Amino acid sequence: MTHQTGTFAVQGTTIAGLKETVALAGRILNKLGMVDYLGHVSARTEGGIIIKPKHSPKITGMDKLEGRHMIVVDVDGTLIEGDEAPPAEVFIHTEIYRRRPDVQAVVHTHQPAATTLGLVATPLKPLLHIPSSYVSDPDVGLWPCPLLVTNAQLGAELADSVGQRDFCHLQGHGIVALGGSVEEAVVRAVMLEEQAQANLAVLSTGLEPREITPGEIEQLQSHRAPVAGRWAYLRELVEAIQ
Ligand SMILES: [Zn+2]
Repeated sequence: MTHQTGTFAVQGTTIAGLKETVALAGRILNKLGMVDYLGHVSARTEGGIIIKPKHSPKITGMDKLEGRHMIVVDVDGTLIEGDEAPPAEVFIHTEIYRRRPDVQAVVHTHQPAATTLGLVATPLKPLLHIPSSYVSDPDVGLWPCPLLVTNAQLGAELADSVGQRDFCHLQGHGIVALGGSVEEAVVRAVMLEEQAQANLAVLSTGLEPREITPGEIEQLQSHRAPVAGRWAYLRELVEAIQ
């Protein structure tokens, strides 16, 4: 395999390998019920942004994505590699990358629990131990707009709402989860969903839950397994059905 330069999303990963990882991320999120044919994962490279194309008769469910389907856009969202059109909401990705040089991957989903919790704009309480080590700040960010992010202006508004966070609700729409790699962004999205499920369940009881304290979160973070281990598990979930 040729080692290409120009990729800094995951050190040592080729462009082709990164396209496979972006496609795999879509299949994993689909397997977990967090996306259907909508939503997209992207990764930044020095040569552009790798992203899932717009859904079409050829690009259908996320469960069928392969690396060869991936396209590359520039920072304005213009197609620079591939045959398929960029997603209408490519500006979610471009405007976040523009403002956050630390972010190498963006996950956008309409995952059900986190999206529902975003409707009530309530703080996301740290309730579950491992998810709380990833989603430690109850203020996960909220962009109070249900519109499709179909231009750079809306993307910029969303990116401003994200600020320096790892997450943000798109109210009445979905979420974004950011990371230093595709793997990290996906794991964060999964942890956000688990934490949101617990929050919704507790909210429905009307009872006050015991929250995990900042000190406990620090301990959990120091003992937590690396993202690579969790990614290996998620990958197996998808490979088991192939
Ligand atoms: Zn969307």
